[in-house]
Amino acid sequence: MKLKSLEISGFKSFADFTKIEFLPGMTGIVGPNGSGKSNISEAIRWVLGEQSAKSLRGNKMPEVIFAGSADRKPLNRAQVRITFDNSDHYLNSDFSELTVTRKLFRTGESEYLINEQSCRLKDVLELFMDSGLGGDSFSIISQGRVESIFNSKPEDRRVIIEEVAGVFKYKKHKQKAERELQDTDEYLDRINDILNELN
Ligand code: ATP
Repeated sequence: MKLKSLEISGFKSFADFTKIEFLPGMTGIVGPNGSGKSNISEAIRWVLGEQSAKSLRGNKMPEVIFAGSADRKPLNRAQVRITFDNSDHYLNSDFSELTVTRKLFRTGESEYLINEQSCRLKDVLELFMDSGLGGDSFSIISQGRVESIFNSKPEDRRVIIEEVAGVFKYKKHKQKAERELQDTDEYLDRINDILNELN
């Protein structure tokens, strides 16, 4: 899976339609302070389903819509579209190219689309679950998060390292399997009780 392009319009400082193509060899985006570099990474998190306005440096979600500038009126809609090359089918989909779009209107209405088909937020979250790109993943680390990782307690940092290493997922599977084993033991006890009564 490869990130191919990001199209932003009306999102934060990107009033005009802007398309960024992540061509082979591209390793970074540079620009003066306040030029919108963080807004680009936030656009990626937002289109992938981010629900916390605070983690996008705002108080309410409509604040992501272009709020106007000295010479431009505010806009009524934010839209971000992200395209992945999925020819290796890393993401669980038959499509070899996947496009996810998120729109938000000032009225509060919002819309998600996968390959131009209207869908639910749940569908977007499920598409990226366990891909390393989901909400709680560490593919995107904001400036503030670096500090919080450094300042976190060793046991919390261990959880982060386990998640990055992919161990966390297996720990969760193990916990689930242990719960199921316990349930099965209880069912067996109950069956044995019934058998004893019948004998
Ligand atoms: P730095 O290098 O200092 O971290 P940066 O390049 O990452 O800066 P951003 O933080 O992405 O810059 O962009 C900040 C700019 O985005 C500010 O000028 C801010 O006014 C503008 N901005 C944020 N939200 C909106 C919005 N809803 N409408 C218009 N402009 C916005």
